[in-house]
Amino acid sequence: MKKIGFVLCFLLLIGCNKSIKIPNFVGKNIDEVKAYAKKYDLKINVKKGYSNQTKNTVLKQNIKENSVLKKDEEMTVWISLGRLSNQDYKDKKVNELGNIPIMMYHGIHNMESHQTKYVGGNVDKDGYQRTSEAFREDLEMYYQKGYRMIPLKEYIDGKIKVEFGKSPIILTFDDGLLNHIKVIGLDEKGEIIIDANSAVGILEEYKRKYKDFQVTATFFVNSSLFQQPDYNEKIVKWLINHGYDIGNHTDTHPDFTKISASEAERQVGSVYTLLKKIIPNQYTEIVALPFGSPYQKSHDNFTSIIKGEFQDSSYQTKGILRVGWESNPSPFSKDFDPLFMKRIRAYDNYGKDFDITYNFNILEKNRYISDGNENIITVPKEKQENIINKKSLKVLGY
Ligand SMILES: [Zn+2]
Repeated sequence: MKKIGFVLCFLLLIGCNKSIKIPNFVGKNIDEVKAYAKKYDLKINVKKGYSNQTKNTVLKQNIKENSVLKKDEEMTVWISLGRLSNQDYKDKKVNELGNIPIMMYHGIHNMESHQTKYVGGNVDKDGYQRTSEAFREDLEMYYQKGYRMIPLKEYIDGKIKVEFGKSPIILTFDDGLLNHIKVIGLDEKGEIIIDANSAVGILEEYKRKYKDFQVTATFFVNSSLFQQPDYNEKIVKWLINHGYDIGNHTDTHPDFTKISASEAERQVGSVYTLLKKIIPNQYTEIVALPFGSPYQKSHDNFTSIIKGEFQDSSYQTKGILRVGWESNPSPFSKDFDPLFMKRIRAYDNYGKDFDITYNFNILEKNRYISDGNENIITVPKEKQENIINKKSLKVLGY
């Protein structure tokens, strides 16, 4: 009998262990999965998360019950780390009313920081341009301090998907520069090849380096997109397909306080129309104000940035970003205003004048720390009354 079984497997050209049907493990203990995997020589990945189920209980599995593992397929099971207690929240200082840094970057220049004339990783006097070396150090610092990236659009929607005890961070890039995503050619499949030292090249490096970093960013472009006419459309689509977002930085980067209302409408509307052609329904309805101007929401042109029409197509902006200088409130805070969000300029200035070091020192006292559950707002009890809960999420005070 054994011999026949062996021959049959050989004829099927698949290992016998690969043709076994996978049982339902949900609700069972991880030890049962491990024993099963050992018996049939299967490779399993175990992912963990807090839940109301008893510790080590299987919550879900990637292979459906009774289906057979395909060639090269691995089984993944998600197990519970158990329920979080008030003490766990206290220990990690969970606070979903804390502040969130929205980092503002412009150019990333392929140089080492000692090659510039300025302090730290600044390429220019005011630090709007940054070296690639400093950008890598920034990313390393964010990760090591327990920050995980989230998309700007999800922050505005109050969707904060960050694991328990970690903090959200948002990356933005203005001006659609060549060094944001420099294309050096196309591969045999026609896909763009990206310069490893441009901003996206470095972000992809960190995506590989830290799988749980949740690497993402929003790029605010003008009509010149990424200044590479041969590749612009491919770049925009590639970014969307790889978990990045594209927002609106106006047609030609005007100061909104120096143009008419109709010109303001054209400046905003034309970029939405351009993006709609390339990535319909996938662009982000957020405007980054050129020069951070107007500085006040009461300015007449502000309404044209929020709402308007261009070439028979209407637009509605859901978020507006300013320039500088500190972290922004939680989306559940009464101080949160998606139409006037502050950013931290990613630059160095000896730890003062709102530079990176200054801001991350302040954040140690007031940063948003996640409960790991995007559907619950968890805060220390005394802060509970300050929550603005537009989406009627469950609130937990501890
Ligand atoms: Zn700009």
